[in-house]
Amino acid sequence: MKKIIAIDGHAASGKSTQAKRIAKVLDYTYIDSGSMYRALTYYFIKNNMLVDPINIKLIIENLKNVVFDFKTTGNSQVILLNGEDVEPYIRNMDVSEHVSKIAAIPEIRTFLIKIQREVSENLNIVMDGRDIGTVVFPHANKKFFLKASDSIRARRRYEELKKVDKDIKFSKVLENIISRDFEDTSRSTSPLKPANDAIIIDTSKYNETQVFNKLISIIKG
Ligand code: C5P
Repeated sequence: MKKIIAIDGHAASGKSTQAKRIAKVLDYTYIDSGSMYRALTYYFIKNNMLVDPINIKLIIENLKNVVFDFKTTGNSQVILLNGEDVEPYIRNMDVSEHVSKIAAIPEIRTFLIKIQREVSENLNIVMDGRDIGTVVFPHANKKFFLKASDSIRARRRYEELKKVDKDIKFSKVLENIISRDFEDTSRSTSPLKPANDAIIIDTSKYNETQVFNKLISIIKG
């Protein structure tokens, strides 16, 4: 039986950093479900389909024009959208500000959950996201839910983004994290919440390596 480790949690709670490290030491495959929601959002922005108020019918109709593939890079599956590696374009504030609206559309979630399950077939995986332990893989072998205070998460994300965007404002990053958490926890389809059997870890007081050591010791039992 293939092994599945699910890491869910709030925006910028350190999920992907931990998931990548775990995948590397266990020689599992890391899959970033958030990158799929981000890639779709990028596609709709790029093709001028994200209007205000959001036109859900237009978005759903255009899903048929999107083909996702994956390429293996080290221990990760990197997403290709219609053949293009979109990773450099999906982490900016524009995508971050719209992604939770796209992620709240039930048809989008059905579309992506199917892909998340398919890409994981026959692999030992670590997947991070918002609904991995609750909806995508309710039978995951281990489930974690990471959290940290708003300001700590915003500070960590701000330091990351500043490396690529010198003009980024801390207040904007904080505002985005708070509003995404609100949208992600309050949507009616697969809202962000810990699975009943998830181990909840507050990372506010720990550094990256301390959190990693905690996770890995739980995984190894
Ligand atoms: O993980 P990341 O912060 O990159 O995810 C971006 C957004 O994608 C989240 O704020 C959420 O709206 C959506 N998402 C989701 N379900 C997942 C992963 C991400 O709704 N499993």
